[in-house]
Amino acid sequence: MTKRGIAVIVVIVITGILAVSGVFKRHTPPAPEPVVLTQQEQETPPIPLALDPGHGGRDPGGVVGDVLEKDVNLEIANRLAELVDAQSGLKAILTRTSDVTVDNRLRLQLAEGAGAVLYVSVHTNSYSDPSVHGAETLVDDTCAEDDPSWKLAELVQKELIAATGARDRGVKKQALYLDQTELPAVSAEVGFITSTDEKDKLLDPTYQDKIARGLLQGILDYLHTTGQLKEQV
Ligand SMILES: [Zn+2]
Repeated sequence: MTKRGIAVIVVIVITGILAVSGVFKRHTPPAPEPVVLTQQEQETPPIPLALDPGHGGRDPGGVVGDVLEKDVNLEIANRLAELVDAQSGLKAILTRTSDVTVDNRLRLQLAEGAGAVLYVSVHTNSYSDPSVHGAETLVDDTCAEDDPSWKLAELVQKELIAATGARDRGVKKQALYLDQTELPAVSAEVGFITSTDEKDKLLDPTYQDKIARGLLQGILDYLHTTGQLKEQV
């Protein structure tokens, strides 16, 4: 027998002994330590809500003298974002926080990318007749009857009117850009900057706060109906 042959036999014998003695048995990993979550970790992560101040930058929206819709929208949406962030379990995702141009498609992408569960766009309305006033909530005219956007619109509109006392112009459908998202999405037209009565209110921080509170309550109502937010006991 050659030296090489002997070496092969030795290796086979040793391997056999070790196999029998259990050295090659697969070690079962030790049971994992029980994970102890801190109070903070036990809380579910906040639900992201997309809040969209309509227009911005190169797009002023409605213009009445030196009043630009984009500015009013931003003030109201910023206030709404503060109220949302003050709620435990909710987190505001603003599509813009300053006077910048943001493409509508990008707004929706921002919302979806942040994992938002709904999308509320904030606008102020304009019309040639200064006597026309009130608030309305719009859904995209492509929305099917069973689209949750209708429920969101209905509740936002109801609470917006309850909080402000504005004339109820109802929920309407309109060709918007909101057909480009699967999210429940509405556009709240919170009042007319072209209205002689309503313009001053829309610029008043106290009235803006009422609008924001109404929008928040509508959103909360919606999240309760969908079960995404548990009723406070
Ligand atoms: Zn607008």
